[in-house]
Amino acid sequence: MKSIRLREGKERSLQRHHPWVFEGSVAKGGADSGETVRIEDSGGGFLAWGAFSPASAIRARAWSFDEYERIDGTFFRRRIERAVALRGRMPIASNGVRLVHGEADGLPGLIVDRYDQTLSAQFLAAGTERWKAVIADALLVATGCSRLYERSDSSVRGLEGLPSVAGWLRGDGATEVVIEEHGVQLTLDVSFGHKTGFYLDQRDNRALLGRWVRHYGLKRVLNAYSYTGGFSVAALAGGAARVTSVDSSAPALERVQRHVALNGLDASKSECLDADVNQFLRDSLKASRRFDCIVLDPPKFAPTAAHAERAARAYKDINRLALELLEPGGLLLTFSCSGGINADLFHKIVAGAAIDARVDGALLQRLEAACDHPTTLVFPEGEYLKGLAILKAA
Ligand code: SAH
Repeated sequence: MKSIRLREGKERSLQRHHPWVFEGSVAKGGADSGETVRIEDSGGGFLAWGAFSPASAIRARAWSFDEYERIDGTFFRRRIERAVALRGRMPIASNGVRLVHGEADGLPGLIVDRYDQTLSAQFLAAGTERWKAVIADALLVATGCSRLYERSDSSVRGLEGLPSVAGWLRGDGATEVVIEEHGVQLTLDVSFGHKTGFYLDQRDNRALLGRWVRHYGLKRVLNAYSYTGGFSVAALAGGAARVTSVDSSAPALERVQRHVALNGLDASKSECLDADVNQFLRDSLKASRRFDCIVLDPPKFAPTAAHAERAARAYKDINRLALELLEPGGLLLTFSCSGGINADLFHKIVAGAAIDARVDGALLQRLEAACDHPTTLVFPEGEYLKGLAILKAA
């Protein structure tokens, strides 16, 4: 068995069961890409079993902190069964479910979403790449699904020295899927959509928006960074008179209109604009346009803490514009999915935006990812999606 030896003092995070070993912490040792290594403290004592990643700044990711656990096919089958069973116990109002959420399920570098009877997976690290066949078979057995599409075409694969790969890993056929969440029908294409095809993490926030649109009688809704219009459909179903969806992806916007029709909603109430959101917000302000409700769900501006400062300015900018565009008494749902910006910092950024916009508001609710995207006690770094629902002062 190969091993890596850490520098003195670098064992602490692993002792707290944090699963990452950074390049600079390794004193000696190594292995092939994805191979299992014994991770040892500076005195040779056991810390964890992990997958070695020779090309990555995260040089190893821990599989297990139990010296007697073997990292073999049975190990992966057990972890996958556990992840699937956990979702079975959770209150998930959809047949679109995040089944494996990386570190949170003890499987660093693996993302698996289930869309009805189709699985879509990302193998994002050397370790999961090496065990891919075992993992794919275990997923089919644990779910009873017969099809698994691989979406290992994320840019983070490059950081691991892994090529971009996409295609059916098990089964085949149409890549178009229909799911139902909170009674709303939504479609996606596992071969084409962002990530694994869809953003399941916003499921419950979309439903909340629908309820709030109805409760507050919100009429003009702006869904900025709409993607395929999950929030737009929820707002229309909640009784909005006009929903404007803005995104820079034309294929995503085409799907917004299909979703409106699929759910029997009035297409004349849905407006789709292929535009840069920042520019759209500025233009709307110039044109004195106003909205009763705005959803801001931008892409990741800060993948890591190193990008936080520039990202903070970008978040502040769009939030200031949105708060200005909102009617007094209106509702803003604002999100950040940047791992590099925590919930506290995000709150401060939005507060700064409110001061610049000379408005105040009441925090209606703090928002987060749906429960099938868990954050574990020992890995709080896994938390990424945070949001605020704000009622602008009337
Ligand atoms: N709220 C969506 C998910 C949004 S993901 C949902 O519930 O499904 C972020 C979206 O922002 C993507 O669809 C991407 O195409 C879009 N996007 C990224 N940069 C943009 C920009 N500058 N202007 C407009 N849209 C942008």
